[in-house]
Amino acid sequence: MNIPVALPLDNDGFLRRECPTCLRQFKWHNGPANEEAEQQAPADSYFCPFCAQAALPDQWLTTEQVDHVRGVAIPAAIKSIDDALSEAFKGFKSKNIKVTKTGHLNTPDEPNPLTEADDMMIIASPCHSWEPIKVPDETASPVHCIVCGQAFAI
Ligand SMILES: [Zn+2]
Ligand SMILES: [Zn+2]
Repeated sequence: MNIPVALPLDNDGFLRRECPTCLRQFKWHNGPANEEAEQQAPADSYFCPFCAQAALPDQWLTTEQVDHVRGVAIPAAIKSIDDALSEAFKGFKSKNIKVTKTGHLNTPDEPNPLTEADDMMIIASPCHSWEPIKVPDETASPVHCIVCGQAFAI
């Protein structure tokens, strides 16, 4: 079952991320930020700007995003099971047995959509300047390039 869940971007097109190693948050640009970025091969993994640990591109969900994805996916999954049950009971009849499905599975309410504030400052590494990120305003140098892990000063 594939349930698409939309995650909100801020007004600059950045998506909030959380490092699976140090749990600090930053944002990366969703999709290529410019023409040069469009020429690049998709990354196999990204480096955390703070602790420089690498992780696969799908491992950077924030706690709020995980909760939200679960909150949207579970009602959708229950609804789909409920529909499948209704379908299964349809035409399930014999001379002596009549089965009618009454009621529905209880589906939890979908959570409110997530919102994304326009916080944090945009920085770009000197080595991979086509992949800008946003870090909290109070972030101190050095920061690591998310593409290659190289440290740089901000
Ligand atoms: Zn980290
Ligand atoms: Zn780099």
